Amino acid sequence: MKYNQKINLENIKKFSVSGIFFDTDNKKFKCVLCERKVAISGSTSIGGHFLICNNCAYEKFGDYAEARKWQQQEFNKILEKEQNNNE
Ligand SMILES: [Zn+2]
Repeated sequence: MKYNQKINLENIKKFSVSGIFFDTDNKKFKCVLCERKVAISGSTSIGGHFLICNNCAYEKFGDYAEARKWQQQEFNKILEKEQNNNE
């Protein structure tokens, strides 16, 4: 699944600045797939990574569990890359 890498980086930055004190209904994030504005409450991500809206989770993956699988796969790719860089 192709995603918008620029939006992904922006989301991660915003996520880390917000910390755990989220205004969960504030639409300050963007879905990396459809690029619509979305709030924490209407999306899923791994700590801000690969943040997608609930619409995309169901429309593009069929259900939430499949969407989480995709996020985890992409996240694992990043972890592998970092490991390789450290060797
Ligand atoms: Zn979306």
